[in-house]
Amino acid sequence: MLENKIKTILQDRYGKDIESAGNRELYETLLLLVKERLQETPKISGDKKVYYVSAEFLVGKLLSNNLINLGIYDEVNEILKKNHKCLAQVEEAEPEPSLGNGGLGRLAACFLDSIATLGLCGDGIGLNYHMGLFRQVFENHKQKEVPNPWIEKEGWLTDTGIGFEVPFKDFTLRSKLYDIDVCGYNNGKNKLHLFDVESVDESIIGDGISFDKHDISRNLTLFLYPDDSDRAGNLLRIYQQYFMVSNGAQFILKECEEKGYELRKLHEHVAVQINDTHPSMIIPELIRLLVQKQIDFNEAVEIVSKTCAYTNHTILAEALEKWPLVDLEQVAPQIVPIIKELDLRVKGRFQDPKTAIIDEQQRVHMAHMDIHYGYSVNGVAALHTEILKSSELKSFYDIYPEKFNNKTNGITFRRWLLHCNKELTEWIAGLVGEGFKKDAAVLERLLEYADNDGALKALLEVKRQKKTDLSRYLKETQGLVLNPDSIFDIQIKRLHEYKRQQMNALYVIYKYLEIKNGKKPKTPITIIFGAKAAPAYRIAKDIIHLILCLQELVTSDPEVAPYLNVVMVENYNVTMAEHLIPACDISEQISLASKEASGTGNMKFMLNGAVTLGTEDGANVEIHELVGDDNIYIFGESSEQVIAHYENHDYRASEYYINDEQIRMLVNFIISPEMMKIGDPYHLLQIHAELIYKDWFMTLLDLKAYIAAKEKAYADYEDRMAWSKKMLVNIAKAGYFSSDRTIADYNHDIWHLD
Ligand SMILES: *Cc1c(COP(=O)(O)O)cnc(C)c1O
Repeated sequence: MLENKIKTILQDRYGKDIESAGNRELYETLLLLVKERLQETPKISGDKKVYYVSAEFLVGKLLSNNLINLGIYDEVNEILKKNHKCLAQVEEAEPEPSLGNGGLGRLAACFLDSIATLGLCGDGIGLNYHMGLFRQVFENHKQKEVPNPWIEKEGWLTDTGIGFEVPFKDFTLRSKLYDIDVCGYNNGKNKLHLFDVESVDESIIGDGISFDKHDISRNLTLFLYPDDSDRAGNLLRIYQQYFMVSNGAQFILKECEEKGYELRKLHEHVAVQINDTHPSMIIPELIRLLVQKQIDFNEAVEIVSKTCAYTNHTILAEALEKWPLVDLEQVAPQIVPIIKELDLRVKGRFQDPKTAIIDEQQRVHMAHMDIHYGYSVNGVAALHTEILKSSELKSFYDIYPEKFNNKTNGITFRRWLLHCNKELTEWIAGLVGEGFKKDAAVLERLLEYADNDGALKALLEVKRQKKTDLSRYLKETQGLVLNPDSIFDIQIKRLHEYKRQQMNALYVIYKYLEIKNGKKPKTPITIIFGAKAAPAYRIAKDIIHLILCLQELVTSDPEVAPYLNVVMVENYNVTMAEHLIPACDISEQISLASKEASGTGNMKFMLNGAVTLGTEDGANVEIHELVGDDNIYIFGESSEQVIAHYENHDYRASEYYINDEQIRMLVNFIISPEMMKIGDPYHLLQIHAELIYKDWFMTLLDLKAYIAAKEKAYADYEDRMAWSKKMLVNIAKAGYFSSDRTIADYNHDIWHLD
């Protein structure tokens, strides 16, 4: 049946059979086949629907995931195999949609998968960025940003024919809505709605990713997170956000009216989940539209407040958006009186200036608007939510304790286990059956095999296979050479000082010098990095420079290279993560305690049998509780201690540098003659000074504890059977981090769908 279908499409389009078709042709054929199947898949319906509004949806490639969720992956795989083709290679032909940046966008994508898998009625709302986030290339040991076009003539986007008028101060733009079908695992489908403008013009892109920031009708949906270091960039972000939420709000109300719902009862039929502060303007926009539809202002405020819920993703103050009132006035003046009125009402009720929406500098605090005029505020891991309640948002928690709740993040096991690690999936199924694919809690039954030598050996073989697979993939795609018999120690995530890639880099220096002094590790070590830096984030780019210089230093030193390898993969994205994570032995989760809201990379690694080396931060805390002290490496100062350092202003990196000879030696190596010869002295001096005189995220505070913990993990790795048991316990306990559990919790506590 399926085989005939594939043959027919191939014959009609290319006049070829499966054996003679190329991977590109096979990809396009499967794309058509899957799109047809998706069209036949019933839409999930319900009397109440959630709209997950997000500036990012980091969905990753969609072919395999759809094949899995439609239940035809194995059959298609067999058909291709029979004809000497390989599905994994066909998949290479698919471009990865570039609609997200990092964890927040990936979370949104996992959530859409789980919402559909649980059979809940819920769609995503976002923007269709043509170039998305930039593509990263390395040149002279530095990051360079280039456009990342991903939209093809034949792809997953469907033109719906739907569009809305979005009014800005000086002009109006008409939107165009594209949809992507989101199919649940053995279930019906929902949709991801991506708004766009017809007039967007890729030809205005100049050098790298530069373009005219003032030409809104042509640049609006070109890039995700355009540089906002100047006013034009700031305004462009506001244009994008208002465009997203005005379309979203119009779309939501249109659907309600079509279903015959009374808009006065909006909250009985709709929940709007505001993913971080980017979509916050949906609150005044919904109020504006309801008033336009003859609903009284007070009532509109009440309706919207019962409809919108806010998810907080960060306690980094600089990441909580505050838009100058004059900028909002310049972009969307029609919502400014509404925001001013909402602010006045808040000021009338609460004296504490910390809870104001508009501050003394006439800036609008988007999160404050969400909290006052939404019915739920959630953090994304237990520790994060506690920090919100006790310090970051304490003034709000004092007013609205009932609004606050925790929803520990999760990941979809379809992509992060079934798809990316077939071998491990089979190992699990061989021991505990297939039940874990629908019910992640079943993984716990693996614990019965914690002392079973046969099972533990087979698990080591799976890991070894994935390390070989990764080595081949990186050789083919990036020309990198890895030793699959080395320890794979991996840190992949956006580059940020709080995530402390620089601390890992200092460890590399430590190990390099150890080896130079004749202390060779028993098992060779491969330290892998993957990270994009925001284009305007100077220090993050300097850290990339440091890592790339270390990579060159280590790999070109014949005394060291057999024992230590440092690899920074180019353009880290979802596809790369799917190759790296199954091959990992040690998962680096070393953020400064209190700063990583949750992390989700940590969960993907755990599920794939990596052991975490981490601080007591974000969801690491919950991983630690689940696996116990023996199956994780925890180090560093606690979040309470760190928060106290900030309150007391008592951390001085320079004191660590002056007082500790080892720390001084490691930091100074950054500007050693051998490094200065490889790298750019200006940037190396800059990061060197940064570490000594600022170090805002306290690298030197935890450096020695980090080195000790890492050495302990490497030593423990030598006992292969004991290590395999740690791997098994991590996999067995990962069920809690299924996004199916997270979404069931959102639904139970916040959305209340069916
Ligand atoms: C999961 C994921 C992230 C988030 O990683 P963290 O370690 O939680 O920051 C970022 N980027 C990609 C491509 C991912 O798949």
